Amino acid sequence: MMRQYELVERVTGYDPSADEALLNRAYVYAMQAHGAQKRASGDPYFSHPLEVAGILTDLKLDDATIATALLHDTIEDTDATREEIDALFGPEIGALVEGLTKISRLDLDSKRAKQAENLRKLLLAVSDDIRVLLVKLADRLHNMRTLQFVVPEKRLRVATETMDIYAPLAGRMGMQTMREELEDLAFGVINPEARTTISDRLEAIKAKSGRLIEDVRQALLGRLAKAGLEVEIHGREKRAFSIWRKMERKSIALEQFSDIFGFRVIVQSVEECYRTLGIVHQAWPVVPGRFKDYISIPKQNDYQSLHTTIVGPGKQRVELQIRTAAMHDVAERGVAAHALYKDGVPQTRKKTKKNAKSRVTPLAKESGVYKWLSHIVDMLDEGDSPEEFLEHTRLELFHDQVFCFTPQGNLITLPRGATPIDFAYAVHTDVGNTCVGVKINGQHTPLITELENGDEVEVIRSDGQTPPTTWEKFAVTGKARSAIRRATREVERARFISLGQKILARAFTRQDIEVEDERLLELARGFGLSDLDALAAAVGRSEIASSEVVSGLGFEIAGAGPKGTPARQHTGEGWLGRARDLRQRLAGVNLRRNSPAHNHERQSGVVPIRGLQGDLPVRFAPEYGAVPGDRIVGILTPGEGITIYPIHADTLKDFDDEPDRWLDVAWDIDANDPERFCTRITVTCLNEVGALAGIAQVIGDNDANIANLTMFNRSPDFYQMLVDIEVWDLAHLNKVISTVRRLGVVSK
Ligand code: MN
Repeated sequence: MMRQYELVERVTGYDPSADEALLNRAYVYAMQAHGAQKRASGDPYFSHPLEVAGILTDLKLDDATIATALLHDTIEDTDATREEIDALFGPEIGALVEGLTKISRLDLDSKRAKQAENLRKLLLAVSDDIRVLLVKLADRLHNMRTLQFVVPEKRLRVATETMDIYAPLAGRMGMQTMREELEDLAFGVINPEARTTISDRLEAIKAKSGRLIEDVRQALLGRLAKAGLEVEIHGREKRAFSIWRKMERKSIALEQFSDIFGFRVIVQSVEECYRTLGIVHQAWPVVPGRFKDYISIPKQNDYQSLHTTIVGPGKQRVELQIRTAAMHDVAERGVAAHALYKDGVPQTRKKTKKNAKSRVTPLAKESGVYKWLSHIVDMLDEGDSPEEFLEHTRLELFHDQVFCFTPQGNLITLPRGATPIDFAYAVHTDVGNTCVGVKINGQHTPLITELENGDEVEVIRSDGQTPPTTWEKFAVTGKARSAIRRATREVERARFISLGQKILARAFTRQDIEVEDERLLELARGFGLSDLDALAAAVGRSEIASSEVVSGLGFEIAGAGPKGTPARQHTGEGWLGRARDLRQRLAGVNLRRNSPAHNHERQSGVVPIRGLQGDLPVRFAPEYGAVPGDRIVGILTPGEGITIYPIHADTLKDFDDEPDRWLDVAWDIDANDPERFCTRITVTCLNEVGALAGIAQVIGDNDANIANLTMFNRSPDFYQMLVDIEVWDLAHLNKVISTVRRLGVVSK
């Protein structure tokens, strides 16, 4: 294990201004926090964060990143808390460690490999700071290096995840060395036979080539020295995986020397890059089609070099990469080079408390890393300006979004604050419209739950379901909201059409007239309506009285009542009588009233409903409370009286075939003398201590009375209850419902 002073020396070796006390503190803290924990290899657990820190010193990262590496598993795997880390190491390191904790809790399951690109975005979304990703990559690299100690079942999963997600991420960040090692280690687990075969071939070819590498190197050095160029040349042996991939991609055999060995020529300046190229091209024949100038056009990850292949000494094809030392640094370390260096120069930092907070180096806008991140922003198709978040190394562009998955592993991107309702509509409008429930990460969860990054959301559907209007309040996406509005409008309209049709049919029967559709259509147009449905809907909404339709058609209005019911007095206003003096008494037992007296005085028991005639008893349907503001309809039961239903009552469809029994009624409330009405709400809430008390409390606070309460469907997680409450009117009821709904324990 690396000693404490060795680690500190490594850091101060490339960054003399590093905070040694911080590094020492983090070392001791992490060692004590992990205590006697062991790795699968049997090593003390602390060896792992220490190795991770070591990898990051190779990348020459700042002291905060090194300290974070030492602490990266403490919140997740020990008793350490974010508060403690903040207190001991400051909020900057606290936030970095927490970022790593969040990543370790993500489920980047390999079954979602096809979603690898999205998972990489998810990783970015969860990492607030690019240094979180750097530590994560180093963490993964060390885990891959020690993968042989892990149980075989887990090995393949980790290797696949590395190959699909982490290695390409390292590549995108320009960290080629890390990428290649990650790939090669994963390759050895995923396809051990192929790796062995290629490695064996490599050994054989190397043995056969003997001194060839050194010969080529010397020849190149000599030729360039003659031209006055002082260069460094490194031989580069390719890794088994990159050879394998090349063979697969180009379906070629492994035989060319240039496929295995390459040379890197490191020169002093950009100008020397081109001079070197010219000399090499004059000295040896060029293999056509292999020259690439990544200096004038850098790769997206900021990589710069000249690439060429020549037929070199001994007729060997030799691949050359010509670059400056700064380019080489970026090529090897990618984004890590930018974390400490600005424009290729080590940043000078002062070790003052004030500077300690703001010393994160901004990414230079001209850097390719910047371009790469901007590209991700573009891909996400959001209008936010990438300049804003790139002022720091922060990845704040994702902070207004959440990334969630369908059970099939498809990624759905939603705005922050989105609920499963938004998710369902984002999948498909039909999915949203038929949604009745949701499982998040396998758990039944209320539909109003705010989604979090990485959530797997399974929408439970039921055909014939329509979205409740109240959903609109819980949806944050325009798509969901407009779809809910559309769906509820359609359902409501269909109800009004069917109601209007029944009212008209009943009126026509009563008048004993037959009306042809054409005539009715003509009349509808006279009312400024487009078709018969529109007319029926208008009648259903009481915008047009059936009597107006009858008289509009040129018929006199007869006074006979419906079949099987007592004939009613014709008031001259049609059966939709509007005279206030025809109010009915209420005989309903389910309507609990404050005043027990039933007399004909308005303030004490008169049914405040108009549209009723005769002296029939009236009651409210027992299962459905109705309160002023609700649209209501009366159903006539011969010999019994009239039952008032809210128009959304399911039971109404039982009377679909008996239009004669439908009565058009409306509320008639005296604003100066309001009354309470009983209605019933169904509440689904968490099975928690105090849930019921909280609900009762807010109902009371809202000036509503609880008349009765029944619990049912009690489960360990949720229970449901029917609450009969007395309210003044629909607005009052809605206020009560929305307050109850806002309670954390209430799901529906
Ligand atoms: Mn770790």
